[in-house]
Formats: sequence, C-alpha cells, structure tokens
Amino acid sequence: MLTKQLGKKLRKEFPVFDYNARHTKDEIRPFHYLDSAASAQKPSAVIDALHSFIEHKYATVHRGAYALSAQSTVMYESTRHEVAKFLGSSFDSSHIVFTKGTTESLNMLASGLSETVLTKSSRIVLPMSEHHSNLVPWQQAALKKDCELAYIHLNGKQGDGLALNLNEASKLITKNTKVVTFSHMGNVLGQINPIEELISLAKAVNAIVIIDCAQSITCLNQNLFALGADAIAFSGHKFYGPTGIGVLALTKSLAEILPPFMFGGGMVSAVSEEGANWVDPPHKFEAGTPPITEAIGLSAAINWYNTLGGQEKIHNHCSKLASQFITGLKKIKEIEIFSPESGRETLVSFRHKTIHSHDLTTILDAHNIALRSGHHCAWPLIHHLGVDALCRASFGVYNDEDDVESSLEVIKNHRFLN
Ligand code: PLP
Repeated sequence: MLTKQLGKKLRKEFPVFDYNARHTKDEIRPFHYLDSAASAQKPSAVIDALHSFIEHKYATVHRGAYALSAQSTVMYESTRHEVAKFLGSSFDSSHIVFTKGTTESLNMLASGLSETVLTKSSRIVLPMSEHHSNLVPWQQAALKKDCELAYIHLNGKQGDGLALNLNEASKLITKNTKVVTFSHMGNVLGQINPIEELISLAKAVNAIVIIDCAQSITCLNQNLFALGADAIAFSGHKFYGPTGIGVLALTKSLAEILPPFMFGGGMVSAVSEEGANWVDPPHKFEAGTPPITEAIGLSAAINWYNTLGGQEKIHNHCSKLASQFITGLKKIKEIEIFSPESGRETLVSFRHKTIHSHDLTTILDAHNIALRSGHHCAWPLIHHLGVDALCRASFGVYNDEDDVESSLEVIKNHRFLN
C-alpha cells in the first residue's frame, strides 16, 4: 500500500497550519507547531468525520429503538473493535473502555484497585518522573488504604543519567507490591522507559502492571499485553483525534475485579429500591451517555493514522527531528538540555541559562512558533532536575526540518519582533 509522506506535504491535511500562518506586510510567517506532546493537531479526515456524524448521523447509543440510534450504536461500538485491532489483533474489544482521557483512565484504576486489591500492607511502585495523572491518583489510593507508595528514582540529572534506576526498582518491587505503574514514554524527558524489565520485575511478584501510553501511543508498538501489561491508558487528543475521549484497555481478569468508577444509566442490569447489579465490561465502566461523537472522531483518527505507514516510520521521523534539534541546541552555549539523547526521543526539554523558559517561549511565539514551557505536570521530576521550568519542543507527523531550523534561529538570536 502506498503510504503518505510525513512533514510538510502532510501539513496540507491540517487546516490549522494555513489558518494560523501570520501574514505581515513583507512576509508570511508559517505556523510552527512544536507542542504535539501536549495535544496533537487534527487532520481534515477527523474534522470531516466529526462534522458529518453530527450533521447527519447523530443519535444516542444503546437506548433508541429507531434506526438512527441503531446506526449510531454500531458506529460507536465499531470504534471499540478498531482500538482493539490497533492494540494487537488478539485483544478482546469487550475490555476496551472509553473514558474522558488518560487521566480518567488512571483514576479509574487507582480508585478501583484501592477498593479491591490494595490493603494496609500493600506497596505501589512507580517512577518519580511520572506525569501527575499517573502519580497523584496513586498518592490518593495510598492515603485511602494507608499503604506504601514507593518511587523509583533516576540515576542522575542529565544525559545517560536520565534513566530509571533499575537496581532500585528491583529492590522496591517485592512480594507485597500489588501495583507497578509507569509511562511508556516520559512527557518531560522523552525517555523510553525499560518496560520489559519493569514488567518482568512486577510479574515475578504477581503485581498488576499499568502502563501510561499517553505519549507513546503515536509512535511506539502498543501490543503491550503480549509483554504482560494488565492495563494501558491513552488519550484521543494526542493521537490526532478529538478531546473528550480516552481509552482504558484491560485484561479480562482485571476487567472482572475492577469495580465501576461511576454509577448511573447504561451500566446496570437491574435496579430496585434496595440496590443494583452491573452489566459486564466494558459497559460496567461507562455510566451515562458516553462520548459518542468523540468515539467517531477517534475511529477516523485511527483509520487516518493507518494510512501513514506505521509506528516505526513515524517514530523515525519524529526522533530524527528531535535529534536535529538537539544537535542545533548544543551549538548554543547558553542552552542546557534535559533529554537522555539516545536518539529515540521524540521531544526535547531544555532551558536557557539567562532567559526564563516562559520568556523564551513568548519570544518564540512572536515568531509564530508554538512550544510549551513550565513544569509539564511533573513536579517531583522538575524538583529533581533542580529547575523551576523547562521549554519543551515535541515533534509530530506534520513537523519537518524547517520547524527545527526556524526555532533554533530564534533561540540563538532571541529577539522580539516589532
Ligand atoms: N500521562 C502522560 C505521560 C501525559 O503526557 C499526559 C498529558 O500530557 C497525561 C498522562 C494526561 O493526559 P490527559 O490530559 O489527556 O488525560
């Protein structure tokens, strides 16, 4: 099958780029979007699918006896099959749960496991470098059960040191460890965590393995269940799809023991004045009217993504741009880089020694270059690095060398435009 060219050619499929090009008296300043790790832009295929569904096909799901609702239900449920197929063909779609996003998926797990699996003598193990979404819910679960939360630290603060200390992990993951949770790819450093080693340590003590795939979903192999994961979570909006939808994919055994997170319509098999019974997964976890339109958008995003040529090609494209960006940053003596520089990262965090990160991103914005600055929802990591904020450039399928060179030019010369 002929696949698409990434970079500049692909940008034509994203209306946001033309719309946000800045027309001045003398020039057109293209829109350089380097914040896909926060949220990716949407191709016309997704925008059109959302539009067409709302305009002509919209009705609620699972509730209507009329044709439009039946059709809407089929479309909503087929997204579940598409997600399952994307995650690995052996995966059972009845354990694909639609949520609002990664954050809700992880909260569902932390809250549910605190009711069923965690006790006072349990330990939860996770890296200190996690996004707050995979850290704060576990702090809350530990507080609720008065159990132990143990962090795996990094070996150091820069370069190769920005890797998880596996020696510490092996000491922490002992037989009272009930949950081991970690991201596949870090949102600040861009590091790819040693998931096989972590899974094998966790499985040796029968701990539940949860993987936050918010960052990795677009470019790394997601067949993590084959490696031993029990649950994975990701968000539609980082996958070139809409906001308001995320996925929690579970093994059959975890789906059975996890209690519902919310209660209401759609998740009950019988209700009396005395109580209620739940339906089977996935509907047990989807109380209320689900994100119907968002699921149609996610389906369009998966189908569109499948025309790009695969995760390896996408990963190579994005990591090559990140490496070029690092090479350029290294020539600017005031810049400090906070990325392991393995050549596999698709984002780069950095700071200027004399210009605050917020100021630097404001200067970049004046040149129509969008990238993020701040603590990146990872305060423990930011404190470990000894900084108050970092700039982060993250690369998606629509970026190219021009984005890299234009940003480097501004960082090097750091002048405001008139
Ligand atoms: N986990 C990681 C690694 C992330 O990068 C993010 C968002 O940036 C999240 C979780 C939370 O995702 P969401 O805000 O879509 O729920």
